[in-house]
Amino acid sequence: MDQTISYFGYVAIVGRPNVGKSTLLNHLLGEKISITSRKPQTTRHQVLGIYSEDEGQIVFVDTPGIHQKAHKALNKYMNRAATQVMNDVDILVWMVSAGSFTAEDEWIGQRILQNRASGAIPFVIVVNKIDRNGREEMLIPFLQKLYDTYQPDHIIPVSALKNKNLDRLLGVLRTTLPKGEPIYDKEQLTDRSLRFLAAERIREKLTRQLGDELPHELAVEIESFKEEPGLARIHGLILVERSSQKAIVIGKQGSRLKQVGASAREELEQLMGKKVMLELWVRVKSGWSDDERALQSLGYVD
Ligand code: GDP
Ligand code: MG
Repeated sequence: MDQTISYFGYVAIVGRPNVGKSTLLNHLLGEKISITSRKPQTTRHQVLGIYSEDEGQIVFVDTPGIHQKAHKALNKYMNRAATQVMNDVDILVWMVSAGSFTAEDEWIGQRILQNRASGAIPFVIVVNKIDRNGREEMLIPFLQKLYDTYQPDHIIPVSALKNKNLDRLLGVLRTTLPKGEPIYDKEQLTDRSLRFLAAERIREKLTRQLGDELPHELAVEIESFKEEPGLARIHGLILVERSSQKAIVIGKQGSRLKQVGASAREELEQLMGKKVMLELWVRVKSGWSDDERALQSLGYVD
């Protein structure tokens, strides 16, 4: 008789940019996200990644509202979404970085304290980047302070990059999640469309290239996405609010846009396992971030 008890559930993973959320997911799920056999699903959440093993499945979801700089209609949407997600998942994971706790971390922590229905959902703080030199003697007081201030159910120091203590994190998630049958294929690592992932990759490359110059009001829309055997033709539109921002995104003689396009194309080729022809345009569309309809067309839907 089969004695194994399956677990299944949703884990929201939040934290400011750069704490290592993507690194953690990549290391848990394996570097490559292969999504060739996508089946459309109606799930409650935006799925970031699906961790499968024989005994169960952990679905990591995004919490779009946890960004201090969100504003206008985007902000309202995001605030609603964040509160909703935070109270609708099975575990809330907040990632911070050892030795660099910023005002933005503090802001997120306050949002969590305010928005979590008290005691409702298991709350785990993951302290990442413990591999960094010279932080060890600082770690214990840092953990203690987080523990006292935010009262998580668990606090787990890890290094996502060096795969340190990730077993312990997985162990806590496994035993905390409810019992249930897996709902995704084992091979499936995400439920997002290639179209959506392409837009995300382009946006990510832009973010990397632009750093602090990044206009906050920046979105990527996939205008057309055509797959042929061995080849995908993708046209992406980068939306900015002002022409000054357009100039920044394009760069001197188009150099920045070219670099963004080249690195995004490389990743998309790896992701899709075929050649990609990627064309990017920048368009000024003022007011998009304050326009509910425009937001919906970009995939921000309730
Ligand atoms: P995200 O914005 O939260 O998704 O953060 P990323 O996963 O993109 O990571 C931001 C940066 O931190 C990258 O340069 C990572 O290589 C680095 N990083 C992530 N995890 C670790 C870690 O455990 N140790 C160290 N030293 N660096 C890390
Ligand atoms: Mg990331």
